[in-house]
Amino acid sequence: MRRRYNAPMSAQPLPCRDDAAPAFGPAARRSTRQVRVGQVAVGGDAPVVVQSMTNTDTADVAATTRQVAELWRAGSELVRVTVNNPESAAAVPRIVEKLAMMGIEVPIIGDFHYNGHQLLAHEPACAEALAKYRINPGNVGFGKKRDTQFAQLIEFAIRYGKPVRIGANWGSLDQSLAAQLMDENAQRAAPWDAGRVLREALIRSALDSAERAVEIGLARERIILSAKVSGVQELVAVYRDMAARSDFALHLGLTEAGIGSKGIVASAAALAVLMQEGIGDTIRISLTPEPGASRTQEVVVAQELLQTMGLRAFTPMVTACPGCGRTTSEFFQELAKVVQEHVRAKMPEWKITHPGAENLTLAVMGCVVNGPGESRHANIGISLPGTGEAPAAPVFIDGEKAMTLRGDGIAREFLGIIDGYVARKFGSDAHAD
Ligand code: SF4
Repeated sequence: MRRRYNAPMSAQPLPCRDDAAPAFGPAARRSTRQVRVGQVAVGGDAPVVVQSMTNTDTADVAATTRQVAELWRAGSELVRVTVNNPESAAAVPRIVEKLAMMGIEVPIIGDFHYNGHQLLAHEPACAEALAKYRINPGNVGFGKKRDTQFAQLIEFAIRYGKPVRIGANWGSLDQSLAAQLMDENAQRAAPWDAGRVLREALIRSALDSAERAVEIGLARERIILSAKVSGVQELVAVYRDMAARSDFALHLGLTEAGIGSKGIVASAAALAVLMQEGIGDTIRISLTPEPGASRTQEVVVAQELLQTMGLRAFTPMVTACPGCGRTTSEFFQELAKVVQEHVRAKMPEWKITHPGAENLTLAVMGCVVNGPGESRHANIGISLPGTGEAPAAPVFIDGEKAMTLRGDGIAREFLGIIDGYVARKFGSDAHAD
């Protein structure tokens, strides 16, 4: 027998008071120092910046230039490339030059490990062409060389007027610092568990390295921090702590997030919690691409995360129902896909010719149950006929039923309605009606 829940007789409705309402929306952004990476501002009052990383051999100038251009066209505002040998260091200025010839001014970040001090010394054109250096404090060098080589990297940043990201990573944690903190922990009256000690080591690696860079002479406004781990709860704990202990701008990312939906969900879960708390100034979604898939997926996911959270707008968003037994065919799924692809493809042009179009909301719904209601909430919505409904698709514009589409041309006509709306509302003659 199913149990029924009965409210206690004494229960009274809660008073409706504004000051009793739960908080709505993200917390105010954490106050950070603003860093200029080329022409892009990170931190301070700048919007959260989307960045990505190439997976081509940087020494292959044509392939890397092509992929940077793809990432930039998809909306990446900063692009990182690995600089791991003399050939890739020599390629960097050529890549930046080729991008400039294509009219692409995206700042390029160099990712250095182990030999960055040597590469920057031998390739001054690379040091100049890069907009930022990423330094991993866990592997700038080992033993006695670590401090010297870290100092050399910072001195190059000072000499060339570049910002750095001091990016600690769980997978390349500074082992001497971890061992030191383990020893200190053993002396505690109530020792921490090993996980907490390792999280502290990661945070201290980033924070101590940043203070060392400041001592060497790098301005605090030239430093971005990150401390990446691959677990969602660990990442949230690490960044909350790091945010409370400094005012450096923070780069968020779940490292080694994984492939497909797992990588997307894990990254979104971790980053959404932090951004809801106002933490994070630039994000990267570290997805493993499916074989043959475009690298640009990580950019799309980053944009969609920011947009669905209401933090930024990049492209019109399509609300679509999941479909159920009331849907007569896959047509509404296809229509939702076609509409999303159409507006995403149009957005680079609309960004210039119809600014504001990125805020457009669209709805594609499968039947009359929620179709008209959801469609009225969107700027433009269509409610397709479900099982047993008349073969007609009412279209709603700004909450009012505007027309009904029928027959084989529904998709084409609906795209035309969207384009016409954008032209009327966001074009140069936007105020004519
Ligand atoms: S709107 Fe209609 S088709 Fe879509 S999920 Fe709801 S009931 Fe099913």
